[in-house]
Amino acid sequence: MAGCRIGGVRSQDVGASSRAAGCRQNEAVMASTKPFSLASREGHPEDSTVDVRGVPIGGPSPVVIAGPCAVEDEDALLATGRFVRAHGARLLRGGAFKPRTSPYSFQGLGEPGLRMLAAAGDATGLPVVSEVLTPRDVGLASRYVQMLQIGSRNMHNAALLREVGRTRMPVLLKRGMSATVEEWLLAAEYVLSAGNPHVVLCERGIRTFETATRFTLDLNAVPLVRELSHLPILVDPSHGTGRRSLVRPMSLAALAAGAHGLIVEVHPRPDRALSDGQQSIDLPTFAGLMSDLAAPPAPPEAVPQEPWLAAGALRSGWA
Ligand code: PEP
Ligand code: MN
Repeated sequence: MAGCRIGGVRSQDVGASSRAAGCRQNEAVMASTKPFSLASREGHPEDSTVDVRGVPIGGPSPVVIAGPCAVEDEDALLATGRFVRAHGARLLRGGAFKPRTSPYSFQGLGEPGLRMLAAAGDATGLPVVSEVLTPRDVGLASRYVQMLQIGSRNMHNAALLREVGRTRMPVLLKRGMSATVEEWLLAAEYVLSAGNPHVVLCERGIRTFETATRFTLDLNAVPLVRELSHLPILVDPSHGTGRRSLVRPMSLAALAAGAHGLIVEVHPRPDRALSDGQQSIDLPTFAGLMSDLAAPPAPPEAVPQEPWLAAGALRSGWA
């Protein structure tokens, strides 16, 4: 085993489960020149699809996950779930364990919140996704939800990544706000190498010098990740911008860039939300967004077109 190489990395350097598998890792692993061998497209040229209780993420139809930042109360959650489902959302989101910047902010309802989410999921038929903050949360949350979310602040938490890797639950792995694409794919590798192949990536914005928006939504990452990896990728335009007015345009841009779907914060009264109200859209705005996604509207002003850029010219090949 000493000489066995996995994705350009000595097998004894890649963690217990990979070590145990040693040289028996599949050919895809052995073929990769990337450090994230299992996540790499090199040995796995086809797109992966992750099935979340019958909803395929990664296929040709974009999937929209919608719901409040945090689970706050059962009736509002149920009303939100019914509304977003009626307008085409395929999963319901809601945080029960909230990783807030300040310890004095609302921290989430914990297990009662998970119970409300599960009830709203049952009532609407939508699978539900919620964030886990510690390895301790994983067993508990798995009893209530169909998809486990690893948040931006925990993308580097190896113990948590290994713990969700030991389950066979779909995992929504958000990009760390200061993580490179390679670090993010290596975080996915922790989950995959622990034996869980059901990983969906989520670009949610990174820290840059720009302070006009909460984060800078890195849409470069979408086609780049699609080149590098077979894993499905979603975009979160809510956290990625921090401003509800930017959610619609960046949703359209994300799908144009090749994202397999979106996760969007929706609240019936964003001004009263206990977390992330400034970036949450209300129900009518969500309905408008979904109809725009189905048939992207024309740009507001006609862009003057040079004759050599006309579509016909491009098709005829002389442009
Ligand atoms: C969230 O989805 O509510 C959340 C906390 O997201 P992020 O980890 O991307 O900040
Ligand atoms: Mn949020």
